[in-house]
Formats: sequence, C-alpha cells, structure tokens
Amino acid sequence: MANLKWKTPRSKTRSRRAANWKLNRVTTEECPQCHAPKRPHFVCEKCGTYAGRQVVEIKDDRRQKQT
Ligand SMILES: [Zn+2]
Repeated sequence: MANLKWKTPRSKTRSRRAANWKLNRVTTEECPQCHAPKRPHFVCEKCGTYAGRQVVEIKDDRRQKQT
C-alpha cells in the first residue's frame, strides 16, 4: 500500500461523516378531535384522545401550582 503524503484533516473526515447524518424533521398530523397538530401514534396533547377515545385527562392547573 502506498504511503499517504498527508493524513486526512479532521475537518474533512467530519464533514464527510456529517453528510451521512441528518436530523429528520418532526412529523405531525392533524388531530381528528380538535384539529391541532400532533405526532402520529401519540396521544394528542391538546385534548388527550387517541383513536377517537379519551385516554388522558387534560389538567389545566399549571397556573395554580406556580402561584
Ligand atoms: Zn386533539
């Protein structure tokens, strides 16, 4: 094997590796209940429903805890 004249700089190695590593945008879909954007296969954070039924009770007492 022929000898390398220069070793590959860190910046070139890292930029090559960065090209194969991308963050995906968070996908959202519309909630059928309240039409708010929600993550697919997740309980809606606005109304607490999943597959048309109430799964999580939405509590609106965040302001009361702070005071
Ligand atoms: Zn909803």
